[in-house]
Amino acid sequence: MNMQNPVEAQKLTITTDGQLQVPDCPIVLYIEGDGTGPDIWRATVRVLDTAVAKAYGDQRRIVWREILAGEKAFQQSGEYLPQESIAAIQEYLVALKGPLTTPVGGGFRSLNVTLRQVLDLYACIRPVRYYPGAPSPLKAPEKVNMVVFRENTEDVYAGIEWPAESPEARKVIDFLNSQLGCHIPLASGIGIKPMSAAGSQRLVRKALKYALAHKCASVTLMHKGNIMKFTEGAFKTWGYAVAAAEFGNQVLTEDQLAQDFKGQLPPGKILIKDRIADAMFQQVLLRPEEYSVIATPNLNGDYLSDALAAQVGGLGMAPGANIGDHYAVFEATHGSAPKYAGLDKVNPSSLILSGAMLLEYLGWTEAAELIHQGLGRTLLAGTVTYDLARLLPGAQELSCSGFAAALIANL
Ligand code: NAD
Repeated sequence: MNMQNPVEAQKLTITTDGQLQVPDCPIVLYIEGDGTGPDIWRATVRVLDTAVAKAYGDQRRIVWREILAGEKAFQQSGEYLPQESIAAIQEYLVALKGPLTTPVGGGFRSLNVTLRQVLDLYACIRPVRYYPGAPSPLKAPEKVNMVVFRENTEDVYAGIEWPAESPEARKVIDFLNSQLGCHIPLASGIGIKPMSAAGSQRLVRKALKYALAHKCASVTLMHKGNIMKFTEGAFKTWGYAVAAAEFGNQVLTEDQLAQDFKGQLPPGKILIKDRIADAMFQQVLLRPEEYSVIATPNLNGDYLSDALAAQVGGLGMAPGANIGDHYAVFEATHGSAPKYAGLDKVNPSSLILSGAMLLEYLGWTEAAELIHQGLGRTLLAGTVTYDLARLLPGAQELSCSGFAAALIANL
């Protein structure tokens, strides 16, 4: 470090029109996470710090500050998601988060879902990109290059549900049966699927802006609107409406493309199209090159992200970010994989790539690019963690920390 002119740690700030202001030495928060979280966090921070130092020398540096959530928070404060941690994200704006365990069948609601709702992180952004050398069930996995924009705050995921036989479920069923002509068996559990125009349109707007900024060819609205007409079907209608109203000069529908442009997308334009969710799962397997940005409601996006991850090496290779209008929390798509906790075994790539997304969000694209290249070289050399090694005959299996060291050597 240049001690004559040390860079001072500062907060990230945001202007009234939503522009992130990034100092050379920003304070960025991190949550280690449960289970394998500490292993992948240790590996990730080494890679990120080295990439930043390689790209910018003494000029830029991240100062990491820990905040607590999950089991570590519970042990120290008796709370799984302390208000202090939420307030810190509201103050410092950006965090990198390890996975948090959610006990199945009772206990508390998912901390991940709560964080997304409390901070209104309405877009879950999950890029899916193939790195040569990674295993894939596809014949031509290099055609896979998509970014999923999954709505994060609405849909059945909003958690509005009541168990069968509860007074609340009975009350809702009574109302539906007596007032609205439904025939729901009295002993049913009930879940509610709310989806709004505002919630859908801000997600599609973010997807379209991303597609324009990254010169992507298309945005696909993925929905199950043929059956769920007033939620998923409305998502499609609202999505096309926001595209026409706010991006009219830059987008074309498939009809416009066929009628006016003989199927050839003019440079600088984005094709907006829609696909029904079940068909979409086969499309991304058979014709992945036709999809770049996918905007979709919460539950569809959850399923599709894991399926796409499998096409490029599995959950160990799947990064993500939860972003709203003010705050951003970057996290791997996978969970805490508790059976490997503390074994220094799992693949840190998903959190490392989430960190690369964080660097891109800061505008530090050179450092992010070093990570993409370094990861590519490490995989091509056949040096991988256990999850990829078992699918790659002849590969050399490395530990979690060993993989980070190999990646750093390849930066
Ligand atoms: P999981 O993602 O932890 O594990 C699914 C499979 O993927 C397992 O076989 C696991 O070994 C493997 N895997 C996960 N991460 C890997 C990595 N980095 N490298 C290689 N293999 C990896 O999902 P799960 O078992 O369903 O859930 C465990 C816990 O995590 C649950 O409490 C769940 O609620 C929670 N969870 C948290 C998040 C989050 O924090 N955003 C996301 C999903 C699940």
